[in-house]
Parts: sequence; C-alpha cells; structure tokens
Amino acid sequence: MPESAASNSTVQRLMEDISRQQFPASALYVTATPIGNTGDITLRALCLLTLADAIACEDTRNTSQLLARYGLSKPLIAVHEHNERERAAQIIERLHGGERIALVSDAGTPAISDPGARLVEAVAAAGLRVIPLPGASAAIAALSASGLLDNGFHFVGFLPSKAAQRDAALQELRALPATLVLYEAPHRIEQTVGALALAFGGERKIVIARELTKLFEEIHRCQLADAANWLATDKNRQRGEFVLLVEGAPVVTDTGDAEAQRVLEILLTECTVSQAAALAAKITGQKKNRLYEHALQLKNGAC
Ligand code: SAM
Repeated sequence: MPESAASNSTVQRLMEDISRQQFPASALYVTATPIGNTGDITLRALCLLTLADAIACEDTRNTSQLLARYGLSKPLIAVHEHNERERAAQIIERLHGGERIALVSDAGTPAISDPGARLVEAVAAAGLRVIPLPGASAAIAALSASGLLDNGFHFVGFLPSKAAQRDAALQELRALPATLVLYEAPHRIEQTVGALALAFGGERKIVIARELTKLFEEIHRCQLADAANWLATDKNRQRGEFVLLVEGAPVVTDTGDAEAQRVLEILLTECTVSQAAALAAKITGQKKNRLYEHALQLKNGAC
C-alpha cells in the first residue's frame, strides 16, 4: 500500500464519523463483502460488522476467516439453503429483542445467486427493518468493465446444470436484446460457452470476466465463435470464478418490409413463433431466420 494511503488519518476520521451514524437496533443488515480483494469492503460495512450482535452467514469457516482479516470476531449463525426458514424464526426473535444482525454470504452481495432472500422476506414480513449495505457484486463489477450496456442487462445467474434444461433456458433467452449476465463454475465453463455459441450463433460478443479483483484477473472480449478456442489455448484460463456477459440479440426495429411485420403480427395471433416465421418467409420471400428473431421479439414484447 502506498505510504500516503497507509497513514491516512482521513480514513480513520471517516470511520469515526460513520460509526456515529445511525445503525438502528432491531434490524437485519444485508451486508456486501469482497468478491476476492480484501480491500473491497466499505467503511460502513466494517462499522456495522463491528457493532453487530451476530452475523448470519453462509459458511461459518469462510466468514470467520474474512472477519479475522479485519481484526473482528463475532457470534456466527449458519444460514444456508437447507435451514433458511428455520433460522429465520430464531433471527426474528433476536431482532425483536433489539439486536442488530448482519447477513453476509461467502462473497459479494447476499441473496444474489446466494442464500438470503428467504430470510430477508421473513424479516420484512415480521415488520422488522431490512437495511442494505451495498458493495461488491461479481455481476456489476463485470458489467461495469464490459462496455456492453447499450440495451440494459438481464441477470441470469447460474444456468441449470443439466444440458437439456440449460439448452431450453438458452432458447428462452435467445431473443432478448439486453446483455445477458451469467455466473459459471470452472468445471462447466467449456460446456457452457459451447452451448451459448450453439444457441445464439457465433457472431454475438462475449466478455469472459475471470477472477475479478484477484491476482489473476482477466477480462477477455471476443465473439462467441472464438470463445471456446480462447479457453482451450491455456488451461489456466479455465480456472477460477467466472462471469460471462453475452451481447443481447440484435434489435430488429425494421424487417425491411412493413408488409412482413404486418404478416408476422397477424400470424403470431394464431401460430407458434416458428410456424409464424416459416409462413411469413413463404408469403414475403424474406429470410426465415431473421423473421424468427423478429417474431420472438414481438412475442416477448421487446419491439
Ligand atoms: N453473491 C455473489 C455476488 O454478489 O456476485 C455471487 C455468489 S455466486 C454463489 C458465486 C459466483 O459468482 C461464482 O461462481 C462466479 O460465477 C461469480 N463470482 C464470484 N466472485 C467472482 C470473481 N471474483 N470473479 C468472477 N466471478 C465471480
């Protein structure tokens, strides 16, 4: 760390100011923690974690290691997929007793492809406050460095692990004009990238964001057709944690023929997307693929 930053008394003053801010009792604090780099925690999160009576977390070992890096140690409550409802009742009782309880996950923002949503829902339904302490999230970090935000984004998270369900999910997403945001684990990265190219065609852009904020951070931009090859070129590229961003479907605002648009709209009231595209292609002489994309967008209300 540069000396000026290490000895910066402004940071200490800020911490003191923030710890004098309101941290209401009887509240659940949904607290983001780093996605890799220990420095990516907010001063407000550090103050809250210091003040909290207990910390609800996904994995007590991971969280106690994280807390130790900041010189903290707190009573931990394990809250995971299988016990979230049951733990919610205990946490609500403690909150009614006036405690401040933080909710953290193993990395990033709780409840984003992580446990926490059911607990939050139960606490809010009990009439208690839920206070977000925003910070790192892999999806937002990747998007911010992608340059792919022209048409907004659609957060997918993890695709289903079974191939048939994954491919069905991709077909549902195929016509969306928004950038798709996916999380993926290293053991599935190759198959997923292959499935994306098959489902969407090779031309769309993909951004592969790997190990964000960590030592081996890498952000690779290419077309879907070239992504598998890039991963295969160096086995190290298949290691670590991944966010995949895929450019949305081209927005078809004009079929090039107002008549084709009119025909598609009529056919869609009676036929499936694929039948409508096939018939419209025969009637208008336009390309079926292009009409299919347009029909999907009309059906999803995207144009
Ligand atoms: N709650 C977290 C968030 O706010 O981003 C996400 C938790 S989810 C269980 C974990 C997945 O997020 C990983 O499998 C990976 O896809 C992605 N991820 C987490 N940290 C990452 C990082 N440092 N770089 C790239 N992707 C990351």
